[in-house]
Amino acid sequence: MSGPTGRFAPSPSGRLHLGNLACSLLAWLSAKSRGGRIVLRIEDLDAARCPRAYADQLEEDLAWLGLVWDEGGSHGGPHGPYYQSECGEIYTKSYQKLEAMGLVYPCFCSRAQLHAASAPHTSDGNVVYPGTCRGLTPEQVAEKRRVKAPAWRVMVPDEEIAFEDLCMGPHSENLLTGCGDFYLRRADGVFAYQLAVVVDDARMGVTEVVRGADLLSSTARQIYLYRLLGLTPPAFAHCPLLLDQEGRRLSKRDGDQSLENLRGRYTAEEIVGKLAYLYGLQPEPAPRTPQSLLPGFDWAKVPKQDVRLQPGLFGS
Ligand code: GLU
Repeated sequence: MSGPTGRFAPSPSGRLHLGNLACSLLAWLSAKSRGGRIVLRIEDLDAARCPRAYADQLEEDLAWLGLVWDEGGSHGGPHGPYYQSECGEIYTKSYQKLEAMGLVYPCFCSRAQLHAASAPHTSDGNVVYPGTCRGLTPEQVAEKRRVKAPAWRVMVPDEEIAFEDLCMGPHSENLLTGCGDFYLRRADGVFAYQLAVVVDDARMGVTEVVRGADLLSSTARQIYLYRLLGLTPPAFAHCPLLLDQEGRRLSKRDGDQSLENLRGRYTAEEIVGKLAYLYGLQPEPAPRTPQSLLPGFDWAKVPKQDVRLQPGLFGS
């Protein structure tokens, strides 16, 4: 039996930071330790924010670290395109299937209106959509479209969607009370991450999705889309986020922990070894190659809580 197909799915909106690298390392180890393979997909849906030069740099950074992938990115392969900016027609087909099921409707609410409404908030800070535009009549829609282009949402059921996360354990979410009808397409025509990621992971044969815990709350939505589209969902592993010493999430905007900075100060083995230490894969931050971590890899060793950068580990 062949092993899992995992993937790297970075958004090239800046240089990779240590948190992105930790996830990539875990994705690679998880797939490779069971004889699997890795696909690289570039998530540049918002093409204006994701110039190709960033994607190329990101490939160079992953390869420098020794996180070599088997298919995708600029290397291409049998499941292309591997750049989401080139997949508009593919997403359109799946979107039309959902439309044909009568589950997609236009939404005219602005962000400000949604936040002003007293609807509860989701764990990622968004508003649980209260279904404001779900019941508009065709006449009301026509009227509103004269002044505003709508975004498009998919209706969700009042149902608990449960799954077993390889890292975090059992997780479940009621889509209606946890997030509400969610976006499939923006008013400018760009498809939403939730749709694109499902369509792409399915068509690329991905059987295992490893990504940051900030996306744990997206997974029930994605499992729902898999179901609607008649596709089999992959296994999911959400890895704890890496926080700076003050407990803030790392972001592509702070240069300190970006590879640009780190590559001048550490070898690839030093960075991999320190990340392996932070994520419970070795007792000391000794330099390691990704390959050397394969025999001892086990999700049970990876912490479930956010991981905080320790003073002195990466410089200051
Ligand atoms: N493109 C997303 C990111 O870079 C990851 C999406 C995913 O893994 O599903 O954060």
